[in-house]
Amino acid sequence: MKLNKIQPGMMSSILPKRLLLHYSFPTFLTRRTSSSSFTTLGNRHLSSNSSQKREKLVILGTGWGGYSVLKNINKKYYDVIVVSPRNHFLFTPLLASTTVGTLEFRSIIEPVRNTGFRHTDHFHLSEAISVDANEKTLHCQNVLVPEKAYKIKYDKLVIAVGALSNTFGVPGVYEHSSFLKEIADARNIRNRILNNFELALHPGISPEERKRLLHIVIVGGGPTGVEFGAEFYDFLREDVSRLYSEEKDLISVSLIEANKILSSFSEGLQNYAVKKIQSRKQMKLVQSHVTEVHENGVKLSDGTFLPCGLVVWSTGLAPRPFVKNLDFEKNQSGQLITDEKLNVLGDDSKSIYAIGDCANIQGNTLPCTAQVAERQGKYLSTSLECLKTDKEVEPFAFKSMGMLAYVGNYKALTDMPAVQAQGFHSWLLWRSAYLTRLGSWRLRMQVPMDWTKTLLFGRDTSRF
Ligand SMILES: Cc1cc2nc3c(=O)[nH]c(=O)nc-3n(C[C@H](O)[C@H](O)[C@H](O)COP(=O)(O)OP(=O)(O)OC[C@H]3O[C@@H](n4cnc5c(N)ncnc54)[C@H](O)[C@@H]3O)c2cc1C
Repeated sequence: MKLNKIQPGMMSSILPKRLLLHYSFPTFLTRRTSSSSFTTLGNRHLSSNSSQKREKLVILGTGWGGYSVLKNINKKYYDVIVVSPRNHFLFTPLLASTTVGTLEFRSIIEPVRNTGFRHTDHFHLSEAISVDANEKTLHCQNVLVPEKAYKIKYDKLVIAVGALSNTFGVPGVYEHSSFLKEIADARNIRNRILNNFELALHPGISPEERKRLLHIVIVGGGPTGVEFGAEFYDFLREDVSRLYSEEKDLISVSLIEANKILSSFSEGLQNYAVKKIQSRKQMKLVQSHVTEVHENGVKLSDGTFLPCGLVVWSTGLAPRPFVKNLDFEKNQSGQLITDEKLNVLGDDSKSIYAIGDCANIQGNTLPCTAQVAERQGKYLSTSLECLKTDKEVEPFAFKSMGMLAYVGNYKALTDMPAVQAQGFHSWLLWRSAYLTRLGSWRLRMQVPMDWTKTLLFGRDTSRF
């Protein structure tokens, strides 16, 4: 049967409504160049009466916080402009699964343009560099052509730029280890693992070098470090033992943590995870600090040198340079401090908000999680609408829904207010909870397809 191309009019009948672009107003651009080297995009799209009434809401970031505002904001009241170096939303809870091919990279990202912008140039693939709160102006830089700097005027600004991985000033981390925060990090880790496996088989390689290449060090026993270890363990058990059968006993993983692993979980669940990890022949828990990272291994606080072929660094968060440079109040972790309505302290105009990992509320410290960032994004969308409809804005309140973590071999931990559990049933809950939260029908189709493919045919170990 010959399939005809899908015509634009047909889309509305076959696609979920939220995936369609809703706005097709004519674009009328006015551009003026300021006396500085920046181009000012302050007066764009002021052609129609309706748009003149709308305030300009600028959102920085397309992560959990920013994307949540973008999806939930009532665009009747605001012209929404998004500035982010990333043109997609990343579903971070499943990022570790992509490092070994349980899931494919594109199965956990959603292009932000699918949310629908009023004008196509309302998304900027750029980084915010600084903010002039008095002039209500944002300075930005294109990520593809960094010398292209420009200014944007805003009426309301939402800062949702997240945070960086914290290196605690340990020498060599930036140069010789991989973080696990972005899709590019996962891709880098996956390639490095496959490269090392192939290098270890190179003719003439010494037994010590082979052992080094097949040793992975994970620094940090938080959920990210533990879940990466769990995914790698599944890869080892289900695929590596078959594809690299002669080397499988040489492969090892060391998880280094100075304190307790999964410290945000209850003690019972922590002990369960420790027992599981320790029962695995190729996995080792090391209680220590890493003091140096080298090209060929890490040095521990007691002077021991652990040779390894890959270091995955996941030890907490540090502020981004953009946040560091902002002239507003910050806490000890370098996060922006907000009031209970998420207004940044120090911005007298009350037009700058900060949400997610880059901020915290004065007197109400919340964990840096997707749950908090997403909920704050939703709250802000509602309160920004309340400002337009003269309704009272309630303070932000957060009640945790609990936490889940995967520990490998079809076992997970559930730490919820009503239930604490571990094992296979928790794994089923872990998978179904994330499946329902994926945020688009495309991802909800792709992720189970990847899981099924992995179960039936194993993980794809192609290197490209
Ligand atoms: C591997 C992994 C697994 C995780 N698992 C879980 C989990 O299971 N459950 C949970 O609750 N939390 C989890 N988290 C934590 C959760 O992902 C974060 O708390 C959440 O992403 C924070 O959201 P955010 O919007 O503040 O920042 P992010 O989601 O990091 O988004 C920041 C955005 O800002 C953009 N940006 C950066 N700099 C600039 C700039 N100068 N200008 C404009 N934009 C900028 C970035 O490109 C990005 O789009 C996990 C995190 C990781 C890394």
